[in-house]
Amino acid sequence: MSRRALAFVDEELRELHETSLYNDIRTLESEQGAWVVIGGRRVLNMCSNNYLGLAAHGRLKEAAKRAIDEYGVGPGAVRSIAGTMTIHEQLERELARFKKTEATVVLQSGFNANLATIPVLVGRGDIIYSDELNHASIIDGCRLSRAEIKPYPHLDLAALEEMLKADAGVEGRKLIVTDGVFSMDGDIADLPGVARLAEEYGCISMVDDAHGEGVLGSSGRGIVDHFDLHGRIDVEIGTLSKALGCVGGFVAGPTPLIDLLKQRGRPFLFSSSLTPAEAAANLEAVRLLEASDKLVLELWENARYFQGEMRRLGFDTGRTETPITPVMVGEADRAREFSRALFAAGIFAMAIGFPTVPRGKARIRVMISAAHTRADLDFALEVFRRIGRDMGII
Ligand SMILES: *Cc1c(COP(=O)(O)O)cnc(C)c1O
Repeated sequence: MSRRALAFVDEELRELHETSLYNDIRTLESEQGAWVVIGGRRVLNMCSNNYLGLAAHGRLKEAAKRAIDEYGVGPGAVRSIAGTMTIHEQLERELARFKKTEATVVLQSGFNANLATIPVLVGRGDIIYSDELNHASIIDGCRLSRAEIKPYPHLDLAALEEMLKADAGVEGRKLIVTDGVFSMDGDIADLPGVARLAEEYGCISMVDDAHGEGVLGSSGRGIVDHFDLHGRIDVEIGTLSKALGCVGGFVAGPTPLIDLLKQRGRPFLFSSSLTPAEAAANLEAVRLLEASDKLVLELWENARYFQGEMRRLGFDTGRTETPITPVMVGEADRAREFSRALFAAGIFAMAIGFPTVPRGKARIRVMISAAHTRADLDFALEVFRRIGRDMGII
């Protein structure tokens, strides 16, 4: 790079390469399915969040095409000026019914849903209690709010309660925020405990259920439904970009709160809405789940089978309680070596190491999908067994 003012860019890139933290991003040459084409080769896809196989589902494709014919390709403006179409409102109404909440508002992504919501809930002088392993978009939303952020140890509600007690006399609003499902380990928040503490200590409760949407609860209604906490968690963030197969995010909660978000949420006010095709595909996904829990049951059946067999082979799958399957390997370079060997054998699965997870806790993160057949999973198990033995991991 020639500009001296940008010299830091080369330096930072060199440092990333030297510390093996540079991420070489793979390019898919096919649609997002159980198998994908990368570099001209068909490989088994164990990386995506396409839990239910909806990303390339015929009904979603058809719905998107119909919406293009009816509404065109672009929303034309931000939602608050001229970008709200009937298809957006229909999606929000049906999503609210599916989630069993009063109302929802749809944004461009789950990331944006957090950025839109947290600064509306709290501001300067207020306090946020945030699980230390919360997603980056929660962390950024918290920072944007200018409230004081107090991280609590992962899932440690006893520690959280001590913090709440110590702050009992402090003025201002208080928010407890947590991921529903934690994406690196697949463990689940103790949401009944969060609801109880929020009620007892007068806090707002908020869960970001990105990896629980379409996965947990009846027909994939999410973690609030899973724990039967309807009405006891104030704000639910969801994504349409994972199990629901398309892209988008939403906030679910009481009607006045959703109303206020439409007045104050900055990504809602200052960034254009979902395209009609996306809104229609998302709506079709919601309808599909509302009509049948078949895909959700298949996802869990696949997850139970794969995780059970992996443990039988001697692999350590950590503390997962969901289809997210960490396969513990140890050091980051070993995980990368494992991932490369998997790829050579026809399996696309990511190695995740420090700093995303602690040192010594590097892993292959296997994402199970309803789109996988039993034969796909058996193929994967055989490859994992062989490489695991070769590398002395099992
Ligand atoms: C993936 C994820 C998001 C981001 O969702 P997008 O719709 O992809 O922006 C937000 N929060 C959590 C907890 C996530 O896992």
